[in-house]
Amino acid sequence: MKYCLDCDWHLNAVSEPSQHDRSQAAIEHHVETGHAIDSSESIVRPTIPDITGEIFVRDLVPSSD
Ligand SMILES: [Zn+2]
Repeated sequence: MKYCLDCDWHLNAVSEPSQHDRSQAAIEHHVETGHAIDSSESIVRPTIPDITGEIFVRDLVPSSD
């Protein structure tokens, strides 16, 4: 499947059977929105680690340097 790292956009073999059309749609989504598209062999969206929260917490902790 193709999926967007920035929003809920995604396409899998169920919603778009043609791999060529999936690639084309992913490129169009990137061009239109500037979002980053990733792809996975699996049919479900992989879990993306919540690194944003981790960085946010780290920024709040005073540096001991
Ligand atoms: Zn997107």
